[in-house]
This record gives sequence, C-alpha cells and structure tokens, in this order.
Amino acid sequence: MSLDVIIKVHPDSDKPTQAWQKIQVHQKVEKVTPMDPSTPILANHIRFVCLSDTHSKIEKGQIKIPDGDVLLHAGDFTNVGLPSEVKNYNEYLGTLPHRLKITIAGNHDLSFDDYLVKTNRQHLSCFGWTESLVEEKLAEYGITGVKELMTNCVYLQDSGVSVCGINIWGSPWQPVFCDWGFNLERGQQLLDKWNLIPESTDILITHGPPIGHGDKCFDEQHAGCVELLSTIQQRVLPKYHLFGHVHEGYGMTTDGKTTFINASTCTVKYRPTNPPVVFDFPVPEGF
Ligand code: 5GP
Ligand code: MN
Ligand code: MN
Ligand code: MN
Repeated sequence: MSLDVIIKVHPDSDKPTQAWQKIQVHQKVEKVTPMDPSTPILANHIRFVCLSDTHSKIEKGQIKIPDGDVLLHAGDFTNVGLPSEVKNYNEYLGTLPHRLKITIAGNHDLSFDDYLVKTNRQHLSCFGWTESLVEEKLAEYGITGVKELMTNCVYLQDSGVSVCGINIWGSPWQPVFCDWGFNLERGQQLLDKWNLIPESTDILITHGPPIGHGDKCFDEQHAGCVELLSTIQQRVLPKYHLFGHVHEGYGMTTDGKTTFINASTCTVKYRPTNPPVVFDFPVPEGF
C-alpha cells in the first residue's frame, strides 16, 4: 500500500512516559462530557454505543447497555479467551437489540491470536489452558477456530466495515505487556499495523490507547502508543477513536479534531461499573 503521509518512529517511542513529556508541549488534550444516553437520537444520525474490557462480566446483565443502532466493543471481552467465554459473549450479544454489533479482540482474548493458537500453543498453559483444551472445545462446538463462534457480530482484525457510508476500522494490537495476546514491540512493529488503517476511516477501534489520551495508568505511567497518535493526527484523522485496555483511563477527550473514547467497562479492579459511552454520528450525504 502506498501512503500519502509517511509516519516516522519517534526516538523515545519505547519510553512512552518520557516521550509524552516532550510531545505534550505541542498537544491539546481537553476533557469531553459524555452525552446522556437517554437523549433522543439526532435526525439523520447513527447512534453508536461503546464498550470495552468487559472481561466476561456483562453476560449476566451486570450493566445496562443503552439502546442505539450500532454496538462497538474494543476488546478484552473475555478473561483468557476460552471458547466457553467467547460463546457466552456471543450469546449475550444475540440478546441485545442493536442492529449491528462490531467487536475487536484484546490481549486477554488469547484464542483469537493465531500465533498463540497455531505456533506457540505451549504459551497458553501460562493462562490456565491445557494443550488439549483448544482441540477438545473446538471439536465440541464443531468449529476450527473461535472466530466462527462470533455469529452475532462483525469481528474486525486489521479490517474494516462500512455502515451507511461511515467507515469503521478495527485492530487488536498493543505494546508488549506481560506477554499476552496481540503484543507487538513499540515503534516500527506497531506502526506497520497502523499503516494498514485507511485514510478514509471515520471511526477507529483499537484495543490500546494512543499516547496522551486515556492512557495514564494508576502508577502515573503513560502506556499509550506514540505511533498510534502520530498516525491519527498526521495521516488518518478519524472523527472518533475508541479503545480501552488501560481501565483506569476511562473517559473522553479531544485534541480538537478527533474525539478519543476510553470505554473500559471494568475498573482497574475488574469491576464492571463504568457506563457504556454513546455518540451520534451524522449519516454522510447520499445515504
Ligand atoms: P488488561 O490486563 O485488562 O489488558 O489491563 C489491565 C491493567 O493493566 C490496566 O488497567 C493497566 O493498569 C495495566 N496495564 C496494561 N497495559 C499496560 C502497560 O503497557 N503499562 C502499564 N504500566 N500498565 C499496563
Ligand atoms: Mn482489560
Ligand atoms: Mn481521514
Ligand atoms: Mn487489555
């Protein structure tokens, strides 16, 4: 793919807290008040309802999901990606009224990471998986991979979908942290994935945050990806960027061009108490 704008890796990319200290001098980060989900949908708009990091905790109806047209989930819908967890999540989605549901994976949704399942299955044992569990469960459900269990949603993985002319792109990758799924090195490895994001993207969904927005951890460290922010600001300019992963970064901010939404449902203690975030997106002319 040829890119109109080539993003350069930041020299401090692998030291994100340090990088942000330098970058923030030229950055605007303003808090945005989320809209009240009981507000009627604006005319000629599509209502999006955003979730992330539900970690198998919403399936018993623990949180109220507001009505809307399209439900978006930014990953970590399970704890360790067990086929039973995936099945429960998909069945729960089937009970929700939204016309379309879109989901990406996060680092906890281990069974969606082909590298772990096909090449490094041994590694899954660190997370309580047994070697045979993959085959047994898949055989029990009559499938060859967990993606086949996602029958009630569109699953995105470095891929996109268009809804009434609104372009949505999803990607699960985040910087290496404790050796989970979809981990890549900061810098060029992650930038190679961000280079796949089309410039026409209106709503970007990634599991991890960009640097500086919803990415501050409880220990005051910034965990976001520098090259993701560069890609958003210098090349793609989406209207919305939805993510989670840093649970304590829940909330909404803007740089004046893109609205950043950390929709982590679970708190840092994995309690599902943060409400889903809602926004209305105008339907483009001609749709
Ligand atoms: P999860 O395990 O659900 O992916 O992430 C849970 C928590 O781990 C986050 O809320 C955050 O506190 C911490 N965490 C995740 N990724 C990073 C990271 O890259 N750096 C730091 N310092 N903490 C992280
Ligand atoms: Mn999580
Ligand atoms: Mn664009
Ligand atoms: Mn995560």
